[in-house]
Amino acid sequence: MGCFCSYVPEEILVAGNILPVRVLGSHEPQNVTEPYLFGMYCPFCRDVLAQGLKGRYDYLDGITLSQSCLHIRQSFIAWREHVEVPFNYYIYMPNKVQTKAATPYLKTEFEKYKAHVEEVVGKELTDDDLDRGIAALNRNRELMHKVYEYRKGDTPMLTGLEAMYMTVSGMWVDKDEHSAEMEKVLEQLPDRQMIRDTGTRLLVVGSENDDTAFIDMVESVGATVVVDDHCTGTRWFWNSVETGDDRINSIADRYIKRPPCPTKDWEERWRFPHILQLCKDFNVEGAIVIQQKFCDPHECDIMPLRKTFDEANIPSLFLEFDVTVPIGQFKVRVEAFLEMFGVDDLF
Ligand code: SF4
Repeated sequence: MGCFCSYVPEEILVAGNILPVRVLGSHEPQNVTEPYLFGMYCPFCRDVLAQGLKGRYDYLDGITLSQSCLHIRQSFIAWREHVEVPFNYYIYMPNKVQTKAATPYLKTEFEKYKAHVEEVVGKELTDDDLDRGIAALNRNRELMHKVYEYRKGDTPMLTGLEAMYMTVSGMWVDKDEHSAEMEKVLEQLPDRQMIRDTGTRLLVVGSENDDTAFIDMVESVGATVVVDDHCTGTRWFWNSVETGDDRINSIADRYIKRPPCPTKDWEERWRFPHILQLCKDFNVEGAIVIQQKFCDPHECDIMPLRKTFDEANIPSLFLEFDVTVPIGQFKVRVEAFLEMFGVDDLF
């Protein structure tokens, strides 16, 4: 099942023995989405739709969007109309999560989604099925947390690039298989010898980001990405389902309370204290704030987020992403940013 956002309740899919697959782009220039999406929609959602139009996700049996932003919704709608796929479902995930009504409301929407999944798989999902789905996701999240713990020390035991491979692969691979691989990694991490200097410890934060070439470049010029706030990283896995008798209610509560996307971060700002806590816990020295070009939700956050960093004495660098990232140009900017920390090219 292709998932258009990290707000799709994967627990319900796994309960139905369905493999959730996060639909991501390919970072290649394309010319197939112009008839369906405005050019000023974010490059990520255009890249996503291009993959569908080019048949690169032709193995999907269905697609699901859980409402987050207008751009990805348009991508979903165009896919639904113009790419052949047997099943599709749009979840009315509320953007106003800061109200007592949010969890009961989302529970009713997830009940409807469960009925849809039952139709797809042709059988009823029992409490045991839901328990299995919840347990698989919770175990996977817990293991990712344990791996992230190894990024907190003076010498992080894995790079930001490796962490990105771990989280993004977890969005495509069977959860139990992914968890089994992480258990193997966790056995080896304590004895790992890192043959690189850590350099400046960075947080990356902002729009969707699975650009491995970018992270690799940042880590090649005297820095280590020690933590992130992305929907392909911590925002996706940070909190678990607290199990209760009403499974769907528990799942809904998890998605209401997870670290929010800016589309859902109002009236109070829940994101900023959470991001500052990540900075503290992972001993962050500087932040790279990225925005997919035209990404309205994150664009609106840039000013207050950078002000928050300023007030906490955390220097930040802003970079705007497109489908392809100008690595050479960004390298110069990242190097100039790192000079603030007194770090020369270490590698
Ligand atoms: S990057 Fe921004 S505009 Fe694009 S899909 Fe994500 S939140 Fe929406």
